[in-house]
Amino acid sequence: MRILLVEDDALLGDGVKAGLKQAGFAVDWTQDGQAAKLALETEEYALVVLDLGLPKLSGTDLLTWLRGRALKVPVLILTARDTVADRIAGLNAGADDYLIKPFDLDELIARINALLRRSAGQITLTLQHGDITLTPSTHEVKKNGQAIDLSAREFSLLHELLLHTGRVQSREQLEQHLYGWGEEVESNSVEVHVHHLRKKLGTTLIRTLRGVGYVIDKETT
Ligand code: CA
Repeated sequence: MRILLVEDDALLGDGVKAGLKQAGFAVDWTQDGQAAKLALETEEYALVVLDLGLPKLSGTDLLTWLRGRALKVPVLILTARDTVADRIAGLNAGADDYLIKPFDLDELIARINALLRRSAGQITLTLQHGDITLTPSTHEVKKNGQAIDLSAREFSLLHELLLHTGRVQSREQLEQHLYGWGEEVESNSVEVHVHHLRKKLGTTLIRTLRGVGYVIDKETT
């Protein structure tokens, strides 16, 4: 899952980026509204964490532009405690949720996971496929009830495929979800992660369509 973080406060931005990476997200961080706009025009994100008070282009203006282009990416806004009017303007401009500064990193991650579930049409807290379950909030994967140890990127890859069962995703699309800017992408990384996931979870879960991409098939009931 790739997240765009837009925050001009260097200390806060740095802390949030580190926290989100720790939670297994790929994070691109921009410090002004214009740079965020450029990023949204060129990259695909699962979610945007958006500060409202930004240089060059305000968070509210960025949001208005985003929704004007019918981009459906979920947006969580960050606002200062004393700016109720800003918060209302942000929600009216199309934000999906908000947090008031200062906030707890765990709460941010919980709200991000809730928004991601909602945007994928998932209402349950745990994704299930056959004997495999994945719980984003606790970062847990189980097979037949047994906890399986996955790396952050293996978890992200499995999460992305489970959120969109039946949809074939190319290697490039999956890389987009796994890596932020400036992160070295090894040429065969997706193949390697898929290989590890198959070893840990069984060979039939992820299907390769040669030359096209990867898919976890929808379950037949
Ligand atoms: Ca700010």
